[in-house]
Amino acid sequence: MDGKATAAAVRGEVAAEVARLVDAHGETARPGLAVVIVGERKDSQTYVRAKRRACEEVGISSFGFELPEETTQEALQDVVRELNARQDVHGILVQLPLPEHIDDEKVLDGIEIGKDVDGFHPLNIGRLCMSGRTPPLFVPCTPKGCVELMDRYGVDVEGKNVVVIGRSNIVGLPLAMLLLHRNATVTICHSRTRDTSAKVKEADIVVAACGIPKFVDKSWLKKDAVVVDVGINAVDDPSKKRGYRLVGDVDYEGAAEVASFITPVPGGVGPMTIAMLLTNTVEACKRHLPAK
Ligand code: NAD
Repeated sequence: MDGKATAAAVRGEVAAEVARLVDAHGETARPGLAVVIVGERKDSQTYVRAKRRACEEVGISSFGFELPEETTQEALQDVVRELNARQDVHGILVQLPLPEHIDDEKVLDGIEIGKDVDGFHPLNIGRLCMSGRTPPLFVPCTPKGCVELMDRYGVDVEGKNVVVIGRSNIVGLPLAMLLLHRNATVTICHSRTRDTSAKVKEADIVVAACGIPKFVDKSWLKKDAVVVDVGINAVDDPSKKRGYRLVGDVDYEGAAEVASFITPVPGGVGPMTIAMLLTNTVEACKRHLPAK
């Protein structure tokens, strides 16, 4: 499953929708995303640059806030409060991880839920975990991107055995919930699971999100399994100019021989994550507009 091409298609749709909104309602209807980063982490800076570039490509206004490493808890929460009040900011993203001295829970809980385009607010996550009640305003971008990618490739999850490897609040847990609501039979494996490979051998669909390079081996996979690889791991590679390359949580070459569908790394889930951030930002903006 080509996440790069699918994300490009989603961006095209988002760009058309942004143009339509501005045409119908004027410049105040242009969606705006605030991206806050604290400190100098190179990987975070790369992600933030990619997110801002994607916004610009589709016509979403992006407002960058680069705060120094020593920013205090109070100062960061003040920034979030100011962004909550701004009319031109429809979505707020605080790039994780935050520096050690900052309590990220307090920061994320302070984002107004209608602007929580990352979907990490406990009310949004709580709503995601319950069925038959008010749905969340936003679903976290990586899980949403995995499901969107499978949808666009016609992978039906209903009744299937799905193994999700990883239970983090930002990937594994919300993804398991999304799949459960689509009537998949979901097994969550984690660091204390005994014999993850045996669980994977039963799976029609495997989603790997544990952050361990090439963790899932070809020998674990059922023939024609669908494999979604969320992992992004830097491994040393002296042949590369930057000295490393990115690999997923699945041994791609081996797994590709057995799987019916598989996502590469890079070029799979990563671009879909950013595309879903754009769709969430447009949704956030549209909630303030009269239907047109
Ligand atoms: P995390 O470190 O918060 O969680 C890792 C999870 O893996 C934990 O729940 C842990 O219990 C589980 N785990 C660890 N060892 C295991 C083992 N031996 N067997 C089974 N489970 C095990 O990581 P995360 O934030 O959920 O991210 C997971 C991976 O996905 C990382 O490689 C990260 O870089 C990547 N990621 C990619 C995107 C994207 O857009 N593609 C977005 C977020 C995270």
